Amino acid sequence: VYLDSAESLRTSELVSWIQLAGHQGNVRLSEGGEVLKRFCEVEAICLQALMFDALCQFVPHYFGHISQDGERYIRLEDLLSGLKNPVIMDCKMGVRTYQEEEIIKARSNGSVRSDMYQKMVKVDLAAPTAEEHAQKGVTKLRYLQWRDDSSSTSSLGFRIEGIVVRNMRLKACSSQIHQNILILSLCVSQEAYESRLQALNESLKESSFFNRHEVSLIGSSLLFVHDCSSKANIWMIDFGKTIPTPKDVRLRHDVPWVEGNREDGYLIGLTSLITLLGEAIKQ
Ligand code: ATP
Ligand code: MG
Ligand code: MG
Repeated sequence: VYLDSAESLRTSELVSWIQLAGHQGNVRLSEGGEVLKRFCEVEAICLQALMFDALCQFVPHYFGHISQDGERYIRLEDLLSGLKNPVIMDCKMGVRTYQEEEIIKARSNGSVRSDMYQKMVKVDLAAPTAEEHAQKGVTKLRYLQWRDDSSSTSSLGFRIEGIVVRNMRLKACSSQIHQNILILSLCVSQEAYESRLQALNESLKESSFFNRHEVSLIGSSLLFVHDCSSKANIWMIDFGKTIPTPKDVRLRHDVPWVEGNREDGYLIGLTSLITLLGEAIKQ
């Protein structure tokens, strides 16, 4: 885990609402205490369906959408409400974080992206090839695959996007996954977290959204939150890339992805998390 000093938080900011991952400003707290997220139809459709699904107790309540200053927003329950100086961890689930359509598009577009090259060298200066260094750019396809392979996404089926603990915003480094879990386990709540993950595992089996609806939950996260009063909870968030699969495809969610099978590996990630938390409890 490293502290990104540019992003470290002032103590005063801690008492206010925190957006951990995603483009800053995409998600914010309204004056009325709801979370407003920039509108995305794919996500709104999922949230609507989830309100009537076995998974509803794992998803923030969805209040529909509103328009404000010419922008549309999704209205969500604030999952940090009532927590004091919460510890928050955003875990992006699954063995890949891009849709199959994105690779097809990226493959046909061979242009090199300097923004993606910059993001890559910021994490690992040695990651680009000599040619990529020379052109100070990488293709989008290369970047998408590198991001999943260099993190724990491909191997464990989840990656930690970030953690906020005390007055620090910690960004995950790929090889440091165990330390990240350990940070959490230092803080009282691992047993509550483990039982919540087990309950989620059971509800996923019951969920028609997850099973019969045949969605791939690409880019979706589990948000871990707890505070010093040891109120701990885990929530499913971020359904912007959660798309139904074609009618003839039935997903298992627990097998590796090969291009064309559309599998998301959601259950591989969940099993990894349960195992890692279980190990942390034993220590
Ligand atoms: P990404 O880049 O992962 O696609 P995004 O723009 O789709 O991000 P989300 O992942 O949905 O946005 O949310 C970003 C962050 O906002 C989360 O990591 C979390 O910290 C916070 N957040 C989102 N929804 C809620 C909520 N209902 N209550 C509290 N915090 C939330
Ligand atoms: Mg997200
Ligand atoms: Mg998203």
